[in-house]
Amino acid sequence: MTGGRLEADVVVVGAGSVGSMACWQLASRGLRVIGVDRFSIPGPFSAYAGESRIFRKVYVEGGHYTPLLQRAQDLWRELEKISGTRLLNTTGAVTIYDEHNPRLASLLAAAHEHGLDSRLLRGDEARNTYPEHLIRDTDVTVFDPEGGYLSSEKAVTAALMEATRLGVTFLGGRKAHSVETYDDRYIVRTEHEEIIASRVIISQGNGAGAVCKELGVHLSVLPQVLTWFPIADRSAFSRADLPVFLRRAEEAGRSDDVQFYGFPSADGWTVKAVASVFLDEVESMEKPPTWDASHLDSIRAWVREFIPGLIPEPVRVATCADGYLPDHTGALGTVPGMDGVVVAVGFSGHGFKMASALGAVAADLVLDGTTATDVGFMNPARFLGPDARLTSLALS
Ligand SMILES: Cc1cc2nc3c(=O)[nH]c(=O)nc-3n(C[C@H](O)[C@H](O)[C@H](O)COP(=O)(O)OP(=O)(O)OC[C@H]3O[C@@H](n4cnc5c(N)ncnc54)[C@H](O)[C@@H]3O)c2cc1C
Repeated sequence: MTGGRLEADVVVVGAGSVGSMACWQLASRGLRVIGVDRFSIPGPFSAYAGESRIFRKVYVEGGHYTPLLQRAQDLWRELEKISGTRLLNTTGAVTIYDEHNPRLASLLAAAHEHGLDSRLLRGDEARNTYPEHLIRDTDVTVFDPEGGYLSSEKAVTAALMEATRLGVTFLGGRKAHSVETYDDRYIVRTEHEEIIASRVIISQGNGAGAVCKELGVHLSVLPQVLTWFPIADRSAFSRADLPVFLRRAEEAGRSDDVQFYGFPSADGWTVKAVASVFLDEVESMEKPPTWDASHLDSIRAWVREFIPGLIPEPVRVATCADGYLPDHTGALGTVPGMDGVVVAVGFSGHGFKMASALGAVAADLVLDGTTATDVGFMNPARFLGPDARLTSLALS
């Protein structure tokens, strides 16, 4: 330890997607905050790396996410105003499902339950609207007009810049090791210092394996390969209002349940198009995982078949990983037995769109013990027995 002992009102461990937003929210409420991260920001192996993340309001994962998504959308707009940067690009999001896909019904139910606008098209009408995609006679397209994409690295940087402007101390390049009770407060030990605070937020993303173990659940750290393909047919991709798109592989007669998705071109000559194919589980992303050409097979085949205007050979490849919980639902709430310690982890491949709200909810919970946004379904105590009480947490 080199940095001695520091004090704060709140320590945020992990200043990535959710932690950066929590730092911003806490600072705007007047708290003295220290944010700690094992990387600099933007971190190359954090879950938000690789340019962009999809934002959707019509949410196949369930209408219970709608209040969070609404709060997130409002906060992204607020952060855009503060930073003077476009962060949430509302291009619309089109999901293409086979008419027999059971997910189609869930998607429409999620929209109807919350009165969200969603437009259904098929046949020639769909082909004329989305000429960049192959649309088959059995396909149904569902358009979410409030969908689009977030510039993820820009958004995290914007939140942290605002947080530091408001007085947050950001300590990068050090790992946090543990949090323990310390009289009526907590002590967070990092590689370089000890920090005493009355409240702690733990938002470690793919580094949350140790804390999840304490919470009685395994966090799977699953890397994915991101790919960018060159545009062959410029006319198909020149429209300024191209929507983000999602499709599932089972429709193409494949047995794997892979999701394909992509974004409008950010640079005019490539399109980021990705298959949710996971590499082998890793313990941590401190060392980049390896991949080989076979990991690109699904996405190449899909691009060749469904997006004929792209050259089906990627010119850019990146890897990054999220942490997945068994029920694919994040854990957000107070740690049983540790009042004032909130975890926000395990967002299982779909947390960025709501990261601004997750950070704000973590701030609500750590300050007031409660929040107006319904996140009961993310209760971190669901994995431990009802009587479990913790007094310390390993963080690495
Ligand atoms: C390939 C891919 C595509 C995705 N696509 C989408 C999408 O389209 N839409 C969407 O909504 N979501 C998407 N997601 C999911 C989303 O990106 C994540 O759920 C979200 O970014 C997780 O945020 P986080 O704050 O939990 O983690 P991170 O943003 O990774 O932040 C965690 C931070 O904690 C730090 N940390 C970890 N351990 C320690 C430690 N011991 N000490 C100090 N610091 C530590 C890390 O360095 C990191 O900066 C995708 C994820 C991946 C991997």
